[in-house]
Amino acid sequence: MTFEKQFCDMPVEEFRKHGHELIDWAVKYLDNIESYPVLPDIKPGDIKKKLPKNLPQKGESMNDILSDVDNIILPGVTHWQHPNFMAYFTSSASAPGILGELLGSVFNTNGMVWKSCPSSTELEETVLIWFRDLLNLPKTFRGVIYDTASVSTMHAIAAAREDTGLDIRKKGMSEIPKLRLYCTQHTHSSIDKAALTLGIGLEGIRKIPVDPEFRMIPSELEKAIKEDRANGFLPFCVVATIGTTSTTSIDPVNDIAAICKRENIWLHVDGAHAGVTAMLPEMHTYFKGLEYADSFVVNPHKWLFVPLDLSVLYIRKPEILKQAFSLIPEYLKTSEDAIVENYMDYGIQLGRRFRSLKFWIVMRYFGAEGLSDRIRNHIRLGQLFAEWVDADPLFERLAPVPFSTICFRAKPANWNDGKKIDELNEKLMNDINATGKVFLSHTKLNDRFTIRLVIAGIRTEEKHVLLAWNVIRECLNKIFNQSN
Ligand code: PLP
Repeated sequence: MTFEKQFCDMPVEEFRKHGHELIDWAVKYLDNIESYPVLPDIKPGDIKKKLPKNLPQKGESMNDILSDVDNIILPGVTHWQHPNFMAYFTSSASAPGILGELLGSVFNTNGMVWKSCPSSTELEETVLIWFRDLLNLPKTFRGVIYDTASVSTMHAIAAAREDTGLDIRKKGMSEIPKLRLYCTQHTHSSIDKAALTLGIGLEGIRKIPVDPEFRMIPSELEKAIKEDRANGFLPFCVVATIGTTSTTSIDPVNDIAAICKRENIWLHVDGAHAGVTAMLPEMHTYFKGLEYADSFVVNPHKWLFVPLDLSVLYIRKPEILKQAFSLIPEYLKTSEDAIVENYMDYGIQLGRRFRSLKFWIVMRYFGAEGLSDRIRNHIRLGQLFAEWVDADPLFERLAPVPFSTICFRAKPANWNDGKKIDELNEKLMNDINATGKVFLSHTKLNDRFTIRLVIAGIRTEEKHVLLAWNVIRECLNKIFNQSN
């Protein structure tokens, strides 16, 4: 080996060989995904025990490393790509998305300013216009890609704070009135985290009561704002959700928007999971009023088959976001600054991955029709599952199903003890998950243990939904047989 080679990257031929092998490995993995237990049967610490404690002094061969992937890593993987992964909000990566992710790593660009990778900036601008139009969002919305909805929302709330005109950017928060943000108990915890991060504090959040279908009650919002103003608070932001995490309930955005307009308060809409359904004309009724929102977050990495991570924030006044975050040191100034977008101006992070590449590839590969068809099919399957639950006297549904997330529990007719019913359902969910055939998660609704089943994976077909239903019923039967 020459001196130069010794300090270089992996040799080209070796890269080619392992690259081909790894793609073959990926194809086999995805092709055989149903042979794995969705949830691995391991205990905390099992994986660490198998890993060497110390870094090797000498480099190791890719063969050895990849063999450890098979023997150590794979057994501890929860298979999010499995068609019966129906927990949380499913995030499944399509094959075109995986190729896009690979390509992004091959380029390994940093899109902090236009000059640092013009394609990254210009593709992001273009793809987010395509996506905006696909979702029928107002033409005035401008998009920015962040990693997650939590971070998108944090930036939206920072923009709302900037929009108060209190010059917090310069003066900080010490001398301003107490800011108040409004949401509900069903709003995602990322809003609370944004409040922690932005100095609004948990006491700066007021949770507005919901109706029996878990939707914010607009008259209660109005009342709270009035009360807070009278008590010296400064109401500055409302977060409404289209598709809440527990039940996918839909806050009445149209009515909330009217209140925000009257009160001059920023309206942020969280559509992290269900926002993609705005592409379906039959779902438009759920998005009424979104055109009046100041910002909207939607995650292509949740229900649009783009590999983690990729979240999009649309914002009506991007100049406010820029005002909040733009800070240009000498070493990042470029001669094009006046005529291009530098995405570093729109957030905390400087370095930015080339995320738009995988999104572009996914959108082009499936097209608007292919994406719509897949999501529509998931919604059809969700309605079907809800019908099965409704028709079975041993089960009850605990929330409406506008999309494809079903909240339900086992509830035999003669059972009335709330604690016993909760215990039954917790055991039922754990037993289902222990089969390795299906993975479900839970929430609490009106203090009742509630099982959630989400249909949003790109590999999920009707037979998988049926399998899930059969496993659920078999597990319940087993519990009853054991206790007799
Ligand atoms: N908003 C809603 C409605 C969610 O359900 C979630 C996560 O499930 C989030 C925000 C946070 O998403 P992320 O993991 O991208 O931060």
